Amino acid sequence: MRFVRVQRQDGRWFGRLSTDTTVRLWSAAPWAGGVELDRTVPFVAAEAMVPVEPTKIVCVGRNYRAHAAELGNEMPREPLLFFKPPSALASSGEPIRLPSASERVEHESELAVVMGAKLCDGRPDDALAAVFGYAAANDVTARDLQKRDGQWARAKGFDSFCPLGPWIETELALEQTEVRAVVNGELRQHGFVRDMAFPVADLVAYISRIMTLEPGDVVLTGTPEGVGPLRAGDVVEVSVSGIGSIRNPVAAR
Ligand code: ZN
Repeated sequence: MRFVRVQRQDGRWFGRLSTDTTVRLWSAAPWAGGVELDRTVPFVAAEAMVPVEPTKIVCVGRNYRAHAAELGNEMPREPLLFFKPPSALASSGEPIRLPSASERVEHESELAVVMGAKLCDGRPDDALAAVFGYAAANDVTARDLQKRDGQWARAKGFDSFCPLGPWIETELALEQTEVRAVVNGELRQHGFVRDMAFPVADLVAYISRIMTLEPGDVVLTGTPEGVGPLRAGDVVEVSVSGIGSIRNPVAAR
């Protein structure tokens, strides 16, 4: 099932895509006690919002060997974690705004995991049961600031630096899933989720042993090789097979 969130004249709604063009509205997010309503509206892509409202976005660095190697980094022995603030979220279609503080902003195509239940001290074999579904995300990064700062809050945290969507897919065959980034029609990144150093279940369990994951929280699972620069006027598309694509223009601030 695919869950969307839409901004309509009568308010903001979570809903289930009942067909490609129809949304069955829900009273609230499905992970927050929402129930399906007896009300259907047309699905208008321009009304689609970011389909989550997380308390935190936990991200994993260097989770694909080829990407760690392309930046000259060793693979970490344990998952390398950082945060993006929820204020960085952007919907598909919303511009990524280049900050004046950076001269090198790059795309990172990633699989996003959305939690459906609270998870604390989880184990790999029960972690996936607490996952609600999956989305496509772009972990936009100011690479020069990342290198300069050491801590990554600034490099990863600018407004618009976390496009995510276009919806949440609840059923995904992780072993077959491919993650891609296309810039101005040219393929820049592609990799398979099965090539992650730390698989999704291990990551979610690992994070939950540090901090409680709340329903609606998001985990970004790392990027495959091929990261590269974004310039004003570019259009970057991140797609995850079995889910769909998010497409964002890049704008000067
Ligand atoms: Zn990343």
